[in-house]
Amino acid sequence: MEISEFKYTEKSLKSLFDVINYAKSNSPYYQKTIGDFLLKEDSFSLEAYKQLPFTTKDDLASNNDKFLAVPLNKVADFVTTSGTTGNPISLFLTKNDLERLATNERDSFKLMGKDHTDVFQLLTTIDKQFMAGIAYFLGVQKLGAGMIRIGPGVPQLQWNSILKYKPSTLIAVPSFIVTLLDYARENNIDFNSTSVKSIVCIGEPIRNEDLSYNKLGARILENWDVQIFSTYASTEMGAAFSECTAQQGCHLNDDLLFMEVLKEDGTEARHEESGEIVVTTLGVEGSPLIRYRTGDIAKVYRNTCSCGRNTPRLGPIIGRKNQMIKYRGTTLFPKAIFDVLEEFKVISCYKVIIDKDELNNDIITVLLEDKLKPSTINEVKELCKSKLRVIPKFEFMEINKLRGLVHKKHMRKPEKIKFN
Ligand SMILES: [Zn+2]
Repeated sequence: MEISEFKYTEKSLKSLFDVINYAKSNSPYYQKTIGDFLLKEDSFSLEAYKQLPFTTKDDLASNNDKFLAVPLNKVADFVTTSGTTGNPISLFLTKNDLERLATNERDSFKLMGKDHTDVFQLLTTIDKQFMAGIAYFLGVQKLGAGMIRIGPGVPQLQWNSILKYKPSTLIAVPSFIVTLLDYARENNIDFNSTSVKSIVCIGEPIRNEDLSYNKLGARILENWDVQIFSTYASTEMGAAFSECTAQQGCHLNDDLLFMEVLKEDGTEARHEESGEIVVTTLGVEGSPLIRYRTGDIAKVYRNTCSCGRNTPRLGPIIGRKNQMIKYRGTTLFPKAIFDVLEEFKVISCYKVIIDKDELNNDIITVLLEDKLKPSTINEVKELCKSKLRVIPKFEFMEINKLRGLVHKKHMRKPEKIKFN
């Protein structure tokens, strides 16, 4: 197959030049790190851009306040995201940055075929300084559509609202949709006759690397006649990659981000290769980031999408660079463990705990519900042996206690793994 690779246009190079120029003059962090970088508009090129140093999450955490590029009284919204050491990282959004967020989500909804006639129900947190909820709210407003802000959890409240306000689209963490369906079945709610037509899935992958639905995605679809859309976003990027109606990976919004996908050797991943996603935020005033290493690893698709757009698309996140688990000479990403557990319909909830032994090797413990049959547990162990080549330790607990450990009130995403 001939790959017509996406070429960065003069427009995107101009945006890159502008953001570097802006950061050099306004961000104390970048004044220090790239202040001496010779920047000339007429000779600026991709090669010149690639000479710039990376920004890591550690840089952002340890110099957090120095990333603020506007006077504090220009900050319209103060957001936080989890840092590497557990201390939250702050990001600062101006009024224009909020407008950029709104544009991003409106564009994402349009990719999914949504318009002003849609009604959205938000099943994620909108306060507590999280970005995603407010971004979706603003995007829905910019689309001219309506939103019901229920927030996370409380299945009964979610169903009451669905039956009363008849939303067409839910915005949710997909594993919570499984909980929602379990609740509906236990309470005789006929979910297939509701108004819900599609679900915008955030925070967790619903597809495998080959873009087929993973167990979580399939589990939703085998029960519910809805369309589910993948997204990939982070607070630092202040933008999302979203699936279009062709559903062949999540499109880059090249007005808002400049993306590199870098392999281990530092070279750019080609069509269908995987690498770490590195972004420069375009048009950000509050906390612009240049060559920010997200730590997320995904496959990139560079051929023209069947929707006609030729922006690069990302497959699901395969893993995080710093979440590589080393166990008895094998390395694996948490997702491989999740995939095994999600093969089992009877496992509705689980949590993986990673500890270190005295020799600094990782110990994997899987927490499961105590009502599972011994035969199921044996099957899980067998599948771990064949797919992961290791058998983790298993511990069992009461289902509600387990759910409490996974769906924490103050957390935006279900905490399926914990590194101790
Ligand atoms: Zn497309």
